[in-house]
Amino acid sequence: MNIIEFRKILAYHTFNSTSNFTNHLKYLKSQKVLITVDDGHISFYENAFPLLKPYQIPAILFIVPSLINTEKPFWWDEVIYYLGKEKGAVELKRLKSIPNHERLAFLEELRSTSEKPLLKQQQLTVEQLKEMQNAGIIIANHSFTHPMFDQCTEEELREELRKTKAFFEEHHLDGYDIFAYPNGNYNELAEKVLKEEGIKYAFLFDHKVNKGEINPMRISRLSVNDDTPLWKLKFILNGWHSKVLPLRKKLFSMLRR
Ligand SMILES: [Zn+2]
Repeated sequence: MNIIEFRKILAYHTFNSTSNFTNHLKYLKSQKVLITVDDGHISFYENAFPLLKPYQIPAILFIVPSLINTEKPFWWDEVIYYLGKEKGAVELKRLKSIPNHERLAFLEELRSTSEKPLLKQQQLTVEQLKEMQNAGIIIANHSFTHPMFDQCTEEELREELRKTKAFFEEHHLDGYDIFAYPNGNYNELAEKVLKEEGIKYAFLFDHKVNKGEINPMRISRLSVNDDTPLWKLKFILNGWHSKVLPLRKKLFSMLRR
């Protein structure tokens, strides 16, 4: 598979709406698209992987190795668990825009001061990763602990990548050099470190169709969900979504004047 052959790359996360996702696959089969899935949520293995198999649509699963073979939760789910949906959403936004060590300190504080028991979440196992890799899914790199790469120090960035590389080597997984920025956040330093640490392809989360010559370190992706209606999926694949959204914003701001 030549990754930069694909202009239209979809980015999914979790899978609960299997009948709707089946409709996606039926349609996507005739399109030249690449499916990517961020985070390695267990629902991919349970609900999407069995459906995906017969369709032979190329797919990449970006995993967070520190969570594999554990019951540790994704950190954003912890924030919602401790603070509730509304307050959690506000904090999440803040946590994604502060230095990484401050985010980690905040999370530690949440865990240690709450009366709630630690949140547990079933994560993928190495065995499941290997089963998927053997079936043709590319298991790839979403960093070791899913920090925001534009909020990390150079040292933190290198540690994220080196630990991930060791994990991929230990378990004979193939896609270390294919990387998706957590939350899509990137900057110059992160891109430099990625290259130096052997990353060949880096995926963004920018809701765009790839146009012209593709920069392999800044590959655009279109955000979709398993329950996105088929008409909307077609709309998004045509690149209309990213054009219409700014137009809509412009229109609203005009109307509000
Ligand atoms: Zn992610």
